[in-house]
Amino acid sequence: MQNDPKKLQAFLKQRQAQHLYRTPLICEGAQQPAMKINGKNMLTFCSNDYLGLANHPKVIKAFKQAADKYGVGSGAAHLINGHSIEHQKLEEELADFTGRERVLLFSTGYMANMGVVNAIMERGDAIFADRLNHASLIDASLLSKAKLQRYAHNNMNALIKRFTTTSSENTLILSDGVFSMDGDCAPVNELATLAEKNKAWLMIDDAHGFGILGKNGAGLLEQQNLSQQQVPILMATLGKAFGTAGAFIAGSDDLIEYLIQTARTYIYTTAMPPAIAAATRASLKLVQQEQWRREKLDSLILQFKQGAKQLGLELMPSDTPIQPILVGESKKAISISGKLQQQGLLVTAIRPPTVEKGTSRLRVTFSTSHNESDIKLLLDKLSSAFKSIKNQ
Ligand SMILES: *Cc1c(COP(=O)(O)O)cnc(C)c1O
Repeated sequence: MQNDPKKLQAFLKQRQAQHLYRTPLICEGAQQPAMKINGKNMLTFCSNDYLGLANHPKVIKAFKQAADKYGVGSGAAHLINGHSIEHQKLEEELADFTGRERVLLFSTGYMANMGVVNAIMERGDAIFADRLNHASLIDASLLSKAKLQRYAHNNMNALIKRFTTTSSENTLILSDGVFSMDGDCAPVNELATLAEKNKAWLMIDDAHGFGILGKNGAGLLEQQNLSQQQVPILMATLGKAFGTAGAFIAGSDDLIEYLIQTARTYIYTTAMPPAIAAATRASLKLVQQEQWRREKLDSLILQFKQGAKQLGLELMPSDTPIQPILVGESKKAISISGKLQQQGLLVTAIRPPTVEKGTSRLRVTFSTSHNESDIKLLLDKLSSAFKSIKNQ
């Protein structure tokens, strides 16, 4: 993009004409299903606050108490004097929870992915990445200068082919655990077997599984009973089900020590505020102690899936709180999302380049804080919105 107002304006006009223009909504009040958005009361179905912890009194209290004790800013990077005892304790507790030797905190998931991929991969290496991986994994791969070879979504034969044709000695299998725009899970057992067989790294980004899947909520790898040896690099975020902010990498003692020496997004950035770490410790307790949050979420998901099936809506193969409804054309997705919005329901239309062309969808997500009546209302409004589109 050149420094020319006409070029900028032409770009923006084109985006609008393609129904791909994006604008942030202005939210008032805390993150919860009922929110005031752009001045209007809305019921939302698009947040990643799956367990309703972003606005939980215990999490808020821990945050406030820590702010009183430690102040707001961490003041420096972890390796200078920004690594608080709250960060340290959170890392130890997350290592326990995930069944890994060590954990390293990062300020965001985007940075965790950037940091770890770039620490272990370089020019001449090969990254085999699922075609539907999150943007941060793609950017991390590109920045590393390793050869990025994408394979068809969850297609193990396509992945095996990558191994038989590569000449790189250092290889990395890179995949979302729960796919962020589809809600389905990666075949992590098969990925682990392939990684072991080929002496490749395996990194799973469990941003959307962490807190949700597994008996204790430790995520997809707990659910599938996969050890640190089988999946050497686990990444998860704290801004989704955990309701706070930040992310971490979990793995072996040696891996974490290596990252501390080499991961640039760990070394050259200010540590997350200690109060965020303290709030996350409170979230972790709730995730561990309040099983009912996952159980209620599961029953809401089931209610929605059954209702949507009766309405003939095209869902995707997902059992997670991410329940996309496939629409196809961007224009149609926007139109349905707009109709729902007029009636006080916020459901995001996800369009290219976030998803592939012709697969625009309504990305419906659920939270423990929703109720049965919310799901019923959503189904009713979806039914009339889809009908009105058909009749156009
Ligand atoms: C949200 C997300 C990230 C980024 O995490 P942030 O903490 O929001 O930067 C990375 N990977 C996946 C799969 C995500 O959904």
